[in-house]
Amino acid sequence: MQKIAMDRISEFYSAMAAERALYLPLKKRGAVNFGRWQEGADVDIDALHTVKSPKDLFFPQSEDIVAFKMKGKEIEIDAPDTPDEPFAVFGVRACDARAMEVLDRVFLSEPVDTYYRARRENGVVITLACTAPEETCFCSVFGIDPAQPGGDVSTWLSGGFLYLKAVTEKGEAFLAGLTPLEEANDAEIEPAVRALEETMERLPLKDLDLTGIDGNATEKLFGSEQWAELSRACLGCGTCTYICPTCQCYDIRDFDTGKEIRRYRCWDSCMYSDFTRMAHGNPRKSQVERFRQRFMHKLVYFPANNDGMYSCVGCGRCVAKCPISMNIVKVAKALGAEARK
Ligand code: SF4
Ligand code: SF4
Repeated sequence: MQKIAMDRISEFYSAMAAERALYLPLKKRGAVNFGRWQEGADVDIDALHTVKSPKDLFFPQSEDIVAFKMKGKEIEIDAPDTPDEPFAVFGVRACDARAMEVLDRVFLSEPVDTYYRARRENGVVITLACTAPEETCFCSVFGIDPAQPGGDVSTWLSGGFLYLKAVTEKGEAFLAGLTPLEEANDAEIEPAVRALEETMERLPLKDLDLTGIDGNATEKLFGSEQWAELSRACLGCGTCTYICPTCQCYDIRDFDTGKEIRRYRCWDSCMYSDFTRMAHGNPRKSQVERFRQRFMHKLVYFPANNDGMYSCVGCGRCVAKCPISMNIVKVAKALGAEARK
């Protein structure tokens, strides 16, 4: 284990940024989101949750896939290069690190998404243990330990120092190139870990019971009469999907610039009425069907196809941000009793 005093943290950022592009939580116009570090940036590593997760760095909200241009009777095809810039992302919380494992299941399965794979290979993930989880957090329900946040390098804040420990070979190689670090002892982070464990015990959602809600629950839950009431006030705004670190749906669209056709992909939301619309129309015609799809996918269909892994990590973003205060916790509580019958 190594450490650096927090009053020298800018040196640490500079050292990392000298190695590769560095992304970390930055405060801008009152909101904290991952952004590229440069000297003088307003870094906020105390913010528990960025508004959007670090998912954008591996699966951007919008990206070009290919462009077409007519040259006489010929079509010229211009495919962008595979992303190859080495980068590091610092300040990833344990829930968001687990979310990357969910995304890996989707994008690294055959057929592999080569853009995502390139970014995963080029990115070093430096996680940060939580110090002050919020009442909306329920990561422990999914077996996530915020004191052991994983990634390529794990870090902890304690007693005015940032402690660092390599988790993977990639993380070890990255740390070896950073100069301003001092040697430290594992015992030095124990007070911080104990304080976090005590806070986790007090969180109101820590006992959310998912018993019976799993990959085998399709028959019991799909036809539940509760979906109508649960979805009644849903605005179909898609906020819950855009801020979710595990949501992975996208659309592919063409845009005519007047000189060429640019084909790009962009995040999409199963909460939208035109999501996966085909020539015959939308397969889910009502908001109740779309609402059900989102929660059945996270809690039933995904675990059914991924060795029991849920597609929710309990980050609590949707709990905090849904404008009608509807969320996966309320759905799980409402359907739990039915699932356990
Ligand atoms: S559940 Fe909430 S955040 Fe999600 S689409 Fe409905 S209203 Fe919007
Ligand atoms: S469903 Fe909600 S709590 Fe679960 S990972 Fe997505 S945003 Fe976080």
